[in-house]
Amino acid sequence: MENSMTRRRAVIVGGSIGGLFTGLHLLRQGWEVTIHERVPVPLSGRGAGIVTHAQLFEALDSAGLAAGDDIGVPTPGRVVLARDGSIAARRDLPQILTSWGRMYELLGAAFPEGMYHRGQNFLRYEEDAEGVTAHFDNGDPVRCDLLIGADGFRSAVRAQFDPAAQPLYAGYVAWRGMVEESALSDRALAEMFPYFAFCLPEGEQMLGYPVAGEGNDVQPGKRRYNFVWYRPADLATELPRLLTDRNGVVNEVSIAPNMIRDEIIAEMRDAAQSLLSPQFAELVARTAQPFLQPIYDLTVDRMARGRVVLVGDAAFVGRPHCGMGVTKAAQDAAVLAEVLDQTGDIPAALERFNALRCATNTYVVNHARALGAYMQAQVLSAEERENAERHRSADAVMRETATADFLRQSAA
Ligand SMILES: Cc1cc2nc3c(=O)[nH]c(=O)nc-3n(C[C@H](O)[C@H](O)[C@H](O)COP(=O)(O)OP(=O)(O)OC[C@H]3O[C@@H](n4cnc5c(N)ncnc54)[C@H](O)[C@@H]3O)c2cc1C
Repeated sequence: MENSMTRRRAVIVGGSIGGLFTGLHLLRQGWEVTIHERVPVPLSGRGAGIVTHAQLFEALDSAGLAAGDDIGVPTPGRVVLARDGSIAARRDLPQILTSWGRMYELLGAAFPEGMYHRGQNFLRYEEDAEGVTAHFDNGDPVRCDLLIGADGFRSAVRAQFDPAAQPLYAGYVAWRGMVEESALSDRALAEMFPYFAFCLPEGEQMLGYPVAGEGNDVQPGKRRYNFVWYRPADLATELPRLLTDRNGVVNEVSIAPNMIRDEIIAEMRDAAQSLLSPQFAELVARTAQPFLQPIYDLTVDRMARGRVVLVGDAAFVGRPHCGMGVTKAAQDAAVLAEVLDQTGDIPAALERFNALRCATNTYVVNHARALGAYMQAQVLSAEERENAERHRSADAVMRETATADFLRQSAA
């Protein structure tokens, strides 16, 4: 057995999905691990769904976690609903749809509470030949062999590691929300609820799928249906208008749901009535608190340098169209643990990680960018327009959205 004098020590900044996956993998390999999360209380989901892929189940398995039948809600396939509510297209594609809260609960329960420090805001690090010292806004500096930035798309670790890497606004926003299964009409329950459903107004995309309800309940009658509605919003005028809150403050990156102005929500609900199928319009009308998410792309040239490494959204954020955010973070964690297990030379292991994950993650972000290009508000070149057109038909949307097949194709 290794004794703690010789155990390698990892500090993980950020205790969401990426941080927990990484922590669990490293613990299994005998590392001493602490997670330092800025938020002082247990995190709670933004209430949206997460699409599972085979790669996510593989990553759960390799982290020593068994996903039971209650991991999510199964759907048999996909439908596209026309404006009049009829089914315009259909595709068999069985999938399990889980929620952020369920994933966080599963991972969090497996990670030792005593090694998870809440209310610790990471400030900066210093690195030398033997290790890294991480500084937080409270508590003593922490010395470690390896510093992992799992601190999401506004990563403070990345800000020091690669200050030039910045999220780029994609030119459209997503309205999101969800409704209790029990609050939906018989029509919506029969024609929309069982499916991963789409509605495709010109230059926009609405999609929805069933997820677990309160307390991660997946029993029929207790579930919810969540939606994501992508709408163009140009950077100069429409985005700042949407992000101007109840106090007149123009938010730059995101807006708290309860600060979205009533007239903005009313406009969105009116648009739902005139543009969407009746089933989706009902869903929007019955959503008590919609939230607004501007869509960004983020890439980095390097995920690792020396003894510092970025995982998950801290390094790469793709538009949500391929539903890879959680799976990508899980795969980063699994590969990082694998390369660290192969050698005691941490910088060499991180170089290998960088080579393995940077290319794949860049590919994921570019693929998601291509899927969403037709919704961008900004003017595209003729070539970009032609490429964008390939991804907007009902068949293409059903085939390509939230599937990980493109990863297999790239590996083939
Ligand atoms: C509370 C929460 C709810 C979410 N809900 C959904 C959802 O419903 N659907 C969905 O698709 N995605 C959701 N996401 C995003 C999703 O988790 C990520 O896209 C993906 O799983 C990659 O996760 P990540 O761990 O890399 O990044 P994130 O999930 O963004 O986690 C980053 C973590 O780092 C912490 N952090 C940031 N800065 C610091 C700092 N300076 N010091 C210490 N800690 C810091 C943050 O508080 C956060 O917990 C949610 C994220 C969070 C944090």
